[in-house]
Amino acid sequence: MRFLSSTARLAALICTAAYAFSQPAYDLLLQGGHVIDPKNGISAVRDVAIKNGSIAAVAAHLDPSAALKVVDVAGLYVTPGLVDIHVHAFAGTGERGSYAGDLSVYPDGFTLRNGVTTVADAGCSGWRNFEDFKNRVIDRSKTRVLAFLNIVGAGMRGAKYENDLADMEAAPAAEMALRYKGLIVGIKTAHFAGPEWTPVEHAVEAGTIAKIPVMVDFGTDRPERPIAELLARKLRPGDIYTHCYSGLRHELDDSGNLNPGMLEGRKRGVIFDVGHGNGSFAWRVAVPALKQKFLPDSISTDLHAGSMNSSMKDMLNVMDKFLAMGLTVDEVIRRSTWNPAREIQHEELGHLSVGAPADVAVLSLQTGRFGFTDMYGARLQATRKLVCEITVRNGKVVYDLNGITRTDWDKLPKNYMQTGDPRWDGIMPQGRTAPAPSGKGK
Ligand SMILES: [Zn+2]
Repeated sequence: MRFLSSTARLAALICTAAYAFSQPAYDLLLQGGHVIDPKNGISAVRDVAIKNGSIAAVAAHLDPSAALKVVDVAGLYVTPGLVDIHVHAFAGTGERGSYAGDLSVYPDGFTLRNGVTTVADAGCSGWRNFEDFKNRVIDRSKTRVLAFLNIVGAGMRGAKYENDLADMEAAPAAEMALRYKGLIVGIKTAHFAGPEWTPVEHAVEAGTIAKIPVMVDFGTDRPERPIAELLARKLRPGDIYTHCYSGLRHELDDSGNLNPGMLEGRKRGVIFDVGHGNGSFAWRVAVPALKQKFLPDSISTDLHAGSMNSSMKDMLNVMDKFLAMGLTVDEVIRRSTWNPAREIQHEELGHLSVGAPADVAVLSLQTGRFGFTDMYGARLQATRKLVCEITVRNGKVVYDLNGITRTDWDKLPKNYMQTGDPRWDGIMPQGRTAPAPSGKGK
């Protein structure tokens, strides 16, 4: 500046001021959608504005001229980005037959296209290999990937490891969880076949030290450790019982009534999570349980290589199943956003409060003839189905099924090149920039 003439200095100042004026108040405005934000008690038509990766405003009407990009989402639901707290995402190690390997999937291929912006890996890694998981997947994913740490030090690598009582130490698990506080959101115990309570007890011990919940896949059904004792005595309020509609551990008694232990656990504050998977959701359990008003606290997929093309498919399919059993869209969204975010102590997620990370799902509710299958291949027919139209992650559109955010090709300049603007567009390839400012409009 010191070498500039006073005229040039003035010109520079004017330019800066003009630039400041030209900076729109919002990067992205989702206009006229039906917002469902259970945490804030909103279920109504609202505009949602986003700036610098955060929710900037939610109101009945926001000025479209204040936004760089306006997207008309009338007739669609606008919800917080979905939070799936039971997935298996420790892919890429090359280990066969292992959830720390081939049985896991890379999350981005399954999440963003379903409105899911946050997942929690359910115990694929233990304290011995969590950092490898972090390096391979967590640090490289567009999806926000969090983790339940397996109480088994070696992680979820098959029966030989998962039944090894000697490798279920609370202290090193808790130490790793504290080292990565916020990233490690809980302790997992799973797939245990023995009669001992050790895995549950050590998981609770680690969870108590690290002040995080425990998630239980209760493994083989054993008379020595009945579910009622787990739910009524062993778990703490806030601990999570996943696979709650599998029926594999007497969640219902022989006459189809809820196990009193389930009710007692709920009364004590134990959390019940779906964890659908390939072997943990049966209509003959879920339908009677819901008729007895036993709704899940959170809806989750148990996504892995074996469930993704089986009865489970994806997050929206699991949510559709609860619509099919009579829950409202609002009830289903609550259990896929704010409830799971709270369960994993990430209260900054799962809602659209001003200042929250701008993770958003835009969903359509389609009607027609649809069928939904369970772990045994039994079908339930229904007429409603959620479809993900747009996913916004960290303020940027990262998925857009029908190009709602895009311009028709024949309305662009004849030799058009890359469209979009990196301030709202997370789809345009990195390094490829739009040749001219994209301006406003749809
Ligand atoms: Zn699982």
